[in-house]
Amino acid sequence: KSGFVAIVGRPNVGKSTFLNRVIGQKIAIMSNTAQTTRNKIQGIYTTDESQIVFIDTPGVHKPKSKLGDYMVQSAMSALNEVDAVLFMVNAAEKRGAGDNFIIDRLKNVKAPIYLLINKIDQVNPDDLLPVMEQYQKALPWKAVYPISALEGNNVDELLTGLVDQM
Ligand code: GDP
Ligand code: MG
Repeated sequence: KSGFVAIVGRPNVGKSTFLNRVIGQKIAIMSNTAQTTRNKIQGIYTTDESQIVFIDTPGVHKPKSKLGDYMVQSAMSALNEVDAVLFMVNAAEKRGAGDNFIIDRLKNVKAPIYLLINKIDQVNPDDLLPVMEQYQKALPWKAVYPISALEGNNVDELLTGLVDQM
């Protein structure tokens, strides 16, 4: 089984951290500064039975300039060439304009979209359900995974789920 998977989400939600964990080596540049990883960075996750190529799409967020607008277009076009899209949000923050901007653009994407609620290590288990409810009806998610990219919670389950669908 093999396929291409793109990850999107507003800056600092944890996309690079997730990719580094999945791929097991530092391929994406991590930073607290928005837009450090401007280019699509690909990494390959392989098991005995599967191979998934991950694509980081840091350019998909609310543009602040004409150039930014162009970058969003070009990053979005990548989403029409993949087998699945991972949309990552921050469990420790409210759904905001940056999240909504991406959700609007994902409405035209044909590939199955998975919702990753990241940084669950930063919230009380009791507070997780209200966060999930904020996003539940935003798009017809293929599946929803609360995860911690930093600590690894639920990441194996997500990978298994992804491979199963391919
Ligand atoms: P990106 O802009 O989406 O690629 O975000 P990064 O991967 O660069 O992460 C931004 C910041 O969030 C870094 O300081 C990460 O260490 C932190 N971070 C990422 N994932 C998690 C997580 O699951 N839990 C916590 N507590 N911090 C995280
Ligand atoms: Mg990044």
